[in-house]
Amino acid sequence: MDKETLQQTLEGHFKWFHRHPEPSNGERETTTQIRRILDEAGIEVLDVNLKTGLVARIQGTKNKPETGIERVIALRADIDALPVTEESGLEYASENAGVMHACGHDFHLSALLGAALLLREQREDLPGTVKLLFQPAEEGGGGARQVLASGVLQDVNEIYGLHVAADLPPGLIAVSPGATHAAVGSFKIIILGKGGHGAYPQQSRDPVPVAAQIVNAAQTIVSRNTSPFEHSVLSFTHVEAGNTWNVIPETALLEGTFRAFSDEKLAWIAHRLEQVSRGIAVACEVEIDFSWEMCTSATCNDPALTDFVIETAKARGLETAPSVPGMGGEDFAYYQKTIPGVFWTIGVGSPQGHHHPGFIADPAPLSTAAELLAALAIAGLQRLSCN
Ligand SMILES: [Zn+2]
Ligand SMILES: [Zn+2]
Repeated sequence: MDKETLQQTLEGHFKWFHRHPEPSNGERETTTQIRRILDEAGIEVLDVNLKTGLVARIQGTKNKPETGIERVIALRADIDALPVTEESGLEYASENAGVMHACGHDFHLSALLGAALLLREQREDLPGTVKLLFQPAEEGGGGARQVLASGVLQDVNEIYGLHVAADLPPGLIAVSPGATHAAVGSFKIIILGKGGHGAYPQQSRDPVPVAAQIVNAAQTIVSRNTSPFEHSVLSFTHVEAGNTWNVIPETALLEGTFRAFSDEKLAWIAHRLEQVSRGIAVACEVEIDFSWEMCTSATCNDPALTDFVIETAKARGLETAPSVPGMGGEDFAYYQKTIPGVFWTIGVGSPQGHHHPGFIADPAPLSTAAELLAALAIAGLQRLSCN
């Protein structure tokens, strides 16, 4: 398939998926449409225990190993959208009220469909197997963990995934070794005081100033306890107490998020936040209920495979640059815990950032993304089959 035909085909798919966004774990129509396109191209869809999303497989016909152990490379795209009301002004804007592909996952899955079509054509050059992973529920719905639990990736030697970058020029490939997406934690602190009359505070244990002190003191965890060379962030995003003007409430609630570039650092911030909160609680004679959760690990790009991605992109005449680490989370990190892999980005020059109602992914580099995915699978399997 020539580049122009590929680009036209993928733009058609991309616009269809952009019109029909579905939220995490609700990607039913999306999955049906992906399956339809793969079926038409004669590409095998595996029987995997997933409610939404799917895994397809292309088995190469070149150099079957005598040992019978196939080399396997997985290519991953996420497929879910967000609860955002689109204001892009596009003629192919979302037709599903309150749901929008505002993170570009429609671009990812269309590019992966393109790679599937290319790899299907080039099966004779493929010394191994490619698994095409259309992952559900990346936006906080536990998609990667569902896929891992299904066991479908157990035989995979390497994994590659892509994300669009709103702020990079269309087609620029940005990738770096190590962590590029943060480990994400969420926390909840409930302050258990004693309510009473607003006029007689001495008879109560007011949780409101305790909450205020915790919010203030916690600002020093990142600014005073962490090296300026280590990136981390801590934000209180939900503060709640009381319901009227003359009653001291019984309890106060604080919620928020914190992020760092390693799971260990994330756990350390959680530990400090708990220490600070409990210390203030003791001083103010209240109890607290502290809990936190790791929502996503930090991504961790394999250094040697990152070089391989850069070389493969350059060999195709593509411009590459180091990627700028971001505090956003990405559940591709879960695959990288057991499978060496690389998460790379491609510029789509959006006027607005990710998750914004005015986010627009330029479809122009779709064929480039598809070709690079396919090239990584082919060159990766060639390299693996020589080892
Ligand atoms: Zn997102
Ligand atoms: Zn995303």
